[in-house]
Amino acid sequence: MDLLNTLVEKGLRREPPSREEALAVLATSDDELLDVVAAAGKVRRQWFGRRVKLNYLVNLKSGLCPEDCSYCSQRLGSKAGILKYTWLKPDEASEAAAAGVAGGAKRVCLVASGRGPTDRDVDRVSKTIEAIKEQNEDVEVCACLGLLSAGQAERLRDAGADAYNHNLNTSEGTYGQITTTHTYADRVDTVRQAQAAGLSACSGLIAGMGESDEDLVDVVFSLRELDPDSVPVNFLIPFEGTPLAKEWNLTPQRCLRILAMTRFVCPDAEVRLAGGREVHLRSMQPLALHLVNSIFLGDYLTSEGQAGKADLDMIADAGFEVEGAGTTTLPEHRAAPGGCGSVCASDAPAKTGTEAGAVAEAPGGTASVPGARTDLVAVRRRGAGTDLAPNA
Ligand code: SF4
Repeated sequence: MDLLNTLVEKGLRREPPSREEALAVLATSDDELLDVVAAAGKVRRQWFGRRVKLNYLVNLKSGLCPEDCSYCSQRLGSKAGILKYTWLKPDEASEAAAAGVAGGAKRVCLVASGRGPTDRDVDRVSKTIEAIKEQNEDVEVCACLGLLSAGQAERLRDAGADAYNHNLNTSEGTYGQITTTHTYADRVDTVRQAQAAGLSACSGLIAGMGESDEDLVDVVFSLRELDPDSVPVNFLIPFEGTPLAKEWNLTPQRCLRILAMTRFVCPDAEVRLAGGREVHLRSMQPLALHLVNSIFLGDYLTSEGQAGKADLDMIADAGFEVEGAGTTTLPEHRAAPGGCGSVCASDAPAKTGTEAGAVAEAPGGTASVPGARTDLVAVRRRGAGTDLAPNA
């Protein structure tokens, strides 16, 4: 297929595809799917070999957010039956992080609900970062606290944060349909503040919110322009009790095409398979490892993932290897000396698991939506904010 040969050649040269070529990847047929995966896999292996970086989410503060992001189970007015709790203490967060590191995670992602941190919140998170780094100085710490005010990125960096996550989520043209309490420009501004402070930027998207192919291509090209080091690709988990509860639009095949397109547009960035992989890729998850070089281990912020051991088994069975703490994630040309892309070197939504898996309630009759897999959406009931051991 001429298209795929062209895209591989461009990816190996770190050149972006044209917009038309990116759209053509999304328009490929199921008959062509394995060819698409194989082609994007060549680009993935060129820049990241067969390594898979593991990241571990710690939800520092869950629910009760004043913002109205339609996709989010923690939003204003959400009726999703998620865990709700205020700030974890530094030792509680550090304990949760340690479970992820013991499970093989190289990066810990400290996430808090809310529009953005107060200066007092930055103090709290700084103490948490210090507690985590005291236990394990090699672990990368990424903060995800919402919109930043002047000086906060620098303070987080000084406290030891390596990275900051703030996702663009969707295209500029459709952002206002997803969220009204802040703007796309606010989000871009926060990513730029993180970069200006010397933090490694992590910014990605959520697919499956009813967007068009053009929207997906728009947001991925916008991300390329913003040039984050890592690009998490989330697949919407349509939580009952949120406005997008009926948006069951994704198939495993479409997810793979979206990941392949993202890899072609951001060939040498850390493309991370994030929330929704168990729900939407299901038994096709191992194929995605040929496209992404990074995943989350264990549970997500408000939902449960498959057991951490199943993640590790999947990686080994598919012939990939977990990236070790001493390995540089990014290719040499991107890794700033001593920066987050080098030896030290992401927002995410939910994983499956029936152990403690409270299946999300379906008051709105979403089970009748064609393709809805509400049976795979399990609200998180273990780990941070509970008395139960975390999944890692
Ligand atoms: S994505 Fe963040 S800001 Fe938006 S509703 Fe959820 S927790 Fe609040």
